[in-house]
Amino acid sequence: MDDCLVVGGGVIGLSLAYELSGRGLRVHVVDRGVLGREASWAGAGILPPARLHRDIEPWDWLRARSHELYPVWSRALLEATGIDNGYRRCGGVYVARSRGEAAALAGLAAHFRQHQIEFQRLDQPQLAECEPALTLGMASGRLKAVYFAPDEAQLRNPRHLQALAAACRQRGVRLSEGVPVRGVRRNSGRLIAVETDAGPLFAANFAIASGAWTDRLLQMVGIPSGIRPVRGQMVLFRCPDRPLRRIINEGSRYLVARDDGFVLAGSSEEDAGFDKSTTPGVLNDLEQMARDLVPALRQAPVQQTWAGLRPGSIDGLPYIGRIGSLENAFVAAGHFRSGLHLAPATALVISDLICRQPVEIDLTAFRLTRG
Ligand SMILES: Cc1cc2nc3c(=O)[nH]c(=O)nc-3n(C[C@H](O)[C@H](O)[C@H](O)COP(=O)(O)OP(=O)(O)OC[C@H]3O[C@@H](n4cnc5c(N)ncnc54)[C@H](O)[C@@H]3O)c2cc1C
Repeated sequence: MDDCLVVGGGVIGLSLAYELSGRGLRVHVVDRGVLGREASWAGAGILPPARLHRDIEPWDWLRARSHELYPVWSRALLEATGIDNGYRRCGGVYVARSRGEAAALAGLAAHFRQHQIEFQRLDQPQLAECEPALTLGMASGRLKAVYFAPDEAQLRNPRHLQALAAACRQRGVRLSEGVPVRGVRRNSGRLIAVETDAGPLFAANFAIASGAWTDRLLQMVGIPSGIRPVRGQMVLFRCPDRPLRRIINEGSRYLVARDDGFVLAGSSEEDAGFDKSTTPGVLNDLEQMARDLVPALRQAPVQQTWAGLRPGSIDGLPYIGRIGSLENAFVAAGHFRSGLHLAPATALVISDLICRQPVEIDLTAFRLTRG
């Protein structure tokens, strides 16, 4: 019998399987579709700066611990699989084009200061050096404030998912695609099996990491959560030269330059149920935002557009921990806009719970029954 059955092969489920198998456990991951093709594929792969320090809150610990683990995991995945997941500490520029955005950036600067995260406010010559593509905006007075955080990083998430899956296979993890979990079998305080079209799958422990679809499974054990899909749309530009060096953040929207010239523009936050269509209005807004901020993108053709469903929660925090009073069932879902970033630390925490080891943080803020 498997030590753990993981439902959902997105970044959360695969990171958990990677960590558990590294600790010597027998793991089976089942996904109703193709591994790593939902939100984890659709995301931008931005890893905002974060830093571990004393007296850190659990949410900031998740971010900071993950931030610390990413270079380590990326190196280990490259060595084990030969797949470069595109982890780069490229730095992030934060821009404000209105007074409201400038005030929000002042708040962000206070957060950076409190968490001892390196940053600086840039004047025009400094911006010209840091990110030349934006200097026109500053010279024309359209940029009211600009900050730079050198510790922001990026990941090519589709490649990261491939690397995780390959490393899991090497470690003996069973990865099953096209296997929707349709029900659960329980016996007093334990889950015994999950029901699939091919019959029940038994395991000693179960982890539910099914992203935006998690609430459906939790309802089967009688513990509904606040997890709901929040659609995000993306535009990918193809550029002959590399027009940007850094990640550019403006409020909740951003531009991410890949090494090979592609530039991603994202994203929206929409309540559209489980509909993954793109819409002309949102795509046009994203294109315009990108081309206004970076004039070099005005000639760049759009290569591809897509949408993904983030697993939203009632308060933006994930659900991480035991499922109700079930002693062998755990949830890791609802990571909203930060699931790619938070995956390694989430995997550590759930692995500690499954291995009955002390967890490094208080999980109260992430319990299912809050709100
Ligand atoms: C446009 C966009 C941009 C984003 N940008 C960033 C970013 O820059 N940085 C960041 O950190 N995060 C980002 N995110 C958020 C991040 O992508 C998500 O938080 C993260 O991918 C969630 O991972 P997951 O594994 O929980 O979900 P998913 O990747 O959605 O995986 C869940 C898996 O569970 C499977 N599943 C569902 N139900 C069942 C079932 N019943 N049985 C079996 N399998 C099932 C699904 O098929 C799916 O493969 C972005 C998201 C979007 C959409």
